[in-house]
Amino acid sequence: MELAYMPKKSMIDVNGLIKDFGKTRVIDGINTTVSAGEVVVLIGASGSGKSTLLRCLNGLETLSAGEILIDSVPLERKSSRLMQIRRQVGMVFQQFNLFPHLTVLENIIEAPIHVLKQERNDAIRVARELLSKVGLSDKRDYYPATLSGGQGQRVAIARALAMHPKIMLFDEPTSALDPELVGEVLNVMKQLAEDGMTMIVVTHEMGFAREVADRVIFIDNGRIVEEGSPVQIFGNPQEKRTKAFLGRLR
Ligand code: ADP
Ligand code: MG
Repeated sequence: MELAYMPKKSMIDVNGLIKDFGKTRVIDGINTTVSAGEVVVLIGASGSGKSTLLRCLNGLETLSAGEILIDSVPLERKSSRLMQIRRQVGMVFQQFNLFPHLTVLENIIEAPIHVLKQERNDAIRVARELLSKVGLSDKRDYYPATLSGGQGQRVAIARALAMHPKIMLFDEPTSALDPELVGEVLNVMKQLAEDGMTMIVVTHEMGFAREVADRVIFIDNGRIVEEGSPVQIFGNPQEKRTKAFLGRLR
């Protein structure tokens, strides 16, 4: 029997995306496709539209024009299925915003119980597995204030994963951390990538990008200026603006 070539299924399709805030065009015609299991690192100067793009992908912003498909389903503000689709897209922010009055375990089981209507015991079982995955089994009964930034961010990742997302978006997840805590968070993200999660990561951690990204996208003024493998983008950037941006990072 002949093995047919199987093109990778696309998990995110962005077609002609435009996002305006008042008269300011922040996303200016973005087109891209992210395959299932692909890890994309998004780079660009402050104010270039990276966070806005992620927020659009997560249904947190209305689109001014264009469309986004999540696993082939259009993300529409009016769609009654918006919440359902949004749940498939986990997001981790720079400020991880754990509920301060809940323990680590309670933070993780909150949404599975109240949003997904999971049985408490099932939610706890999943939370334990996730805590083990992010290396924090011993912290389950701690309160967020007693955790380091790196531990808090790993809990935030576990909390997002507890919703069983198809896609994980990371918006500068290590930018607020002390340098010595960055690695433990990046390691968890790397593991997640190896497990096959579809990920878009906004980060200035170029070592992570080189090692983990399948593709690097450089955006400037809300447009994709250049994209390619880490080797191409870091080793042999073609566009003047990419070179200038990468030059500033060194
Ligand atoms: P980045 O994450 O790349 O730093 P952002 O997506 O946060 O960029 O912002 C891109 C531009 O959009 C900036 O000029 C910012 O001031 C503007 N912007 C972002 N959010 C809003 C908003 N809610 N209202 C008005 N302007 C916004
Ligand atoms: Mg940002």
